[in-house]
Amino acid sequence: MALLGGIEAGGTKFVCAVGTGPDDLRAEVRIPTTTPKETISQVIDFFRQQIGQMGELAAIGIGAFGPVDVCANSPKFGWFLNTPKPAWQQIDFAGMITRELAVPVGFDTDVNAAALGEYRWGHGTGLETFIYLTIGTGIGGGGIVGGQPIHGLLHPEMGHILIPHDLSVDPFVGACPFHQDCLEGLASGYAMEKRWHQRAESLPADHPAWPLEAHYLSTGLINFILTLSPERIILGGGVMAQPRLLPLIRSQVRERLRAYLEVPKIMTDIDNYIVPPKLGNKAGIMGAFVLAQQAVR
Ligand code: ZN
Repeated sequence: MALLGGIEAGGTKFVCAVGTGPDDLRAEVRIPTTTPKETISQVIDFFRQQIGQMGELAAIGIGAFGPVDVCANSPKFGWFLNTPKPAWQQIDFAGMITRELAVPVGFDTDVNAAALGEYRWGHGTGLETFIYLTIGTGIGGGGIVGGQPIHGLLHPEMGHILIPHDLSVDPFVGACPFHQDCLEGLASGYAMEKRWHQRAESLPADHPAWPLEAHYLSTGLINFILTLSPERIILGGGVMAQPRLLPLIRSQVRERLRAYLEVPKIMTDIDNYIVPPKLGNKAGIMGAFVLAQQAVR
């Protein structure tokens, strides 16, 4: 199989890799997300070096934080749009990679890419409809319907849905620069750090942060379940590393839905319904390989 490149362009780091799949990862690097000029030139340097050592790449796939233009016919295909990171707004990322490295480029959101990775090699295999959410510095959601990543108008922005916020229980006003107390503004790793004045990963398991976090995330998931009817929900991202969180989310989703949705997957099998990614933190970069493969065709 032809050698592929992958880029998982995240808000805190860019993961770049060369290989063909989970069992064939030949090189990988993590580059901090600083300015576009600095970060993108390091990305290009990495691939030039790999091409020098291993030969030409058939294509490079990119999964990027959003909002981005994923519409193949659009003049801004592969651009970062008005992202919450001001320095990255209106940057032609896919175009720069195509021009500098002279390869075909596949492009989608980071979460649609992770969903594609799980669809090909992980917990999405064989499913018609499922969603993938990352709960990290930000919150993003993508998914697959009928074997294709969800695009539509632009692409899903599940992290920015508006959910009930009781200020008497949680007086934190929210951290999203666009909507303040949207899901990301209340439940991202960044929001947790702002609310509790310490990083999410340093909050102990018995901290009240976790039931509150599970409340917001399960509220979001219930909305996605009722809207998209996914056959499975895959939850990745750094905040999910707290082992107490996933069981809390499962039990809250089940308790709040089961009187209404009488389906076995929710009533008796929720542990197989809301799951971590089978590919772990490799879901995104593996999905970037899938996007690269599609770009070759
Ligand atoms: Zn928002």
